[in-house]
Amino acid sequence: MDAYRKIMVALEPTEGKLVAVSKTHPIETIKALYEKGQRDFGENRHQELVEKYEALPKDIRWHFIGHLQTNKVKYIAPFVYLIHAVDSLKLLKEINKQAQRNDRTIKCLLQFKIAEEDSKYGLELDDFSTAFSANEMAELSNVELIGVMGMATFTDNKAQIRQEFQRLKSIYDQLKADPFKDADQFTEVSMGMSGDYQIALEEGSTMVRVGSLLFGERQY
Ligand SMILES: *Cc1c(COP(=O)(O)O)cnc(C)c1O
Repeated sequence: MDAYRKIMVALEPTEGKLVAVSKTHPIETIKALYEKGQRDFGENRHQELVEKYEALPKDIRWHFIGHLQTNKVKYIAPFVYLIHAVDSLKLLKEINKQAQRNDRTIKCLLQFKIAEEDSKYGLELDDFSTAFSANEMAELSNVELIGVMGMATFTDNKAQIRQEFQRLKSIYDQLKADPFKDADQFTEVSMGMSGDYQIALEEGSTMVRVGSLLFGERQY
């Protein structure tokens, strides 16, 4: 069974979705998976994303999964489906502004820091509660916060990875219970990559972001 089939089988009982992370891989590789029915693809560089968007079928849902600089939002705002890694109010405000300019609403996830490494971006739950006040959020009419995203520590220690995913799920549960916006639309927990997507699904992931397992090693 190929990796794509294997992931689809793992997702079946969970209602989870696969975001195929196609960064660094060519158009033809994406097309081949598109032809098998895959519609959600993830990229982490705005330029590469725009080029691929222009070259590929328009029913692809493009996910921006990397760290997004405020001054790059305008390039992807016309078409991006979901921005996974919002980690500041400043970024969310810019997404709102660019969404308004394009006369659309952009879905976003809040990135939380769950890994022990310092290098990973993301919010702490306390920062979020302080920075993203209900008043501020109410003014952002062109963004829709639909859940959370996180990355576990890069380690072989499965217990640690599981614990980190449990933390993200718990943050999600807390935010959903305390609706700063509309709890009905707050439904997504984006966690799990090639090495840990099975653990992530066991811990409540609704969206796994898988690259190398599907497409092989990345060529930078
Ligand atoms: C590259 C990337 C992935 C995919 O990683 P793989 O280990 O290749 O599956 C997932 N999420 C983010 C945020 C990434 O940057």
